[in-house]
Amino acid sequence: MSVTHTPRDIFDSTLTLLERLCAISSPSGDLDGLGAAARLLGDELGRRGLEVEIRQEPGEDGRPQPVLYARSGQARRAHLLAIGHLDTVLEARPPERRGEQLYATGAIDMKGGLVALVGALDLLAARGLSVPDDLVLAVVPDEEVAGHLSQKVVARLGAGARGLWVLEPGQPSGDGETLVAGRRGMFDWRLKAVGRAAHAGNAYWRGRSALNAAAEWCTRARALAAEGHGPTVNAARLVSGEAGFVANLAAGAELIGTSRQLNVVPDRAMVEGEARFLRPADGDELRERMTELAAAIAGEHDLGVDFEPGPVVPPVDPNGPGRDASLAAVEIARAAGWRLEIEEDRGGISFSNFLPDPASIPILDGLGPVGDGMHTREEYVELGSLDRRIALLAELLAAETSSPL
Ligand SMILES: [Zn+2]
Repeated sequence: MSVTHTPRDIFDSTLTLLERLCAISSPSGDLDGLGAAARLLGDELGRRGLEVEIRQEPGEDGRPQPVLYARSGQARRAHLLAIGHLDTVLEARPPERRGEQLYATGAIDMKGGLVALVGALDLLAARGLSVPDDLVLAVVPDEEVAGHLSQKVVARLGAGARGLWVLEPGQPSGDGETLVAGRRGMFDWRLKAVGRAAHAGNAYWRGRSALNAAAEWCTRARALAAEGHGPTVNAARLVSGEAGFVANLAAGAELIGTSRQLNVVPDRAMVEGEARFLRPADGDELRERMTELAAAIAGEHDLGVDFEPGPVVPPVDPNGPGRDASLAAVEIARAAGWRLEIEEDRGGISFSNFLPDPASIPILDGLGPVGDGMHTREEYVELGSLDRRIALLAELLAAETSSPL
């Protein structure tokens, strides 16, 4: 392929490193594989002058898992934090080059972003430029699963950071590719309705159906969602029936498909779901309106309705403090002759959502190379994108320091 943004030797060595890293099988939970991948990446970063440490930190189940830290200089309170993960969803298969693509497990999600940073360090060195002396790279082993360490590490190191770079992949978009500027926040929620059971034949009008109340709440909560950049409400499951049925679903399962208890006005309902929103104010308003709706339904149906929102995962506002940094990256790409687009509204939770306050520092997300087939056997990275992202990262690093050797 023709490499147009990175010197050939640097591109080739970066691609070789990507192949080696992807050949190491490191699905979430495979501690040997994750350790081996961390050692390979750590060796390469150490060779480029970073101070590397692989710490064993307890994951969600308490078992120690490898977390890689690489620092460029003296630890300062306000540092530039770069974050990535070494775990993959699938076990590795041998990487395979096909034309302009490399098919490999983790090629874009996200070993590609990690090696692009290594390539960018080489490119800086080749240009006689130094790395910003407050760069801290953290690479976690559990992003694809519970994300216990992912959350802990971002919360801890993000607290003192002056900026966050996320090396997850962007996305192809027309003749260009994207950078992620906005990510939705979310909260889980639970609705409980308590009505009055009654015989559906003899005392129908004395009953208060928890099922009808919960179903109406769901329909009206759904109407709070708005297309485009508006919020969404997803009722994921509704369970209803006579109190004993809802309290012990395992035992109640044998009723499903029979006529038993169909003559009872159901006095219990439980709905569980989640809500997502792009702007912090939307999240506050949504919680308020969902709570008000529960009170309204309780009154209209003459029964008890309790709405319980869970903890809020804050959104990353596309118009927050990262706006200028994203526009600067777009400009770097434009000057280099390719098109980088800003993605304002990603629905999936990622590292940046785990910052103590995503609205407090600039965030550049989706810095890694693009391709397709994430989490499948057909995952590949576009080699052209790897070339572009190495150069982009080098320019961004250079802009952070601008101190020639
Ligand atoms: Zn990922």
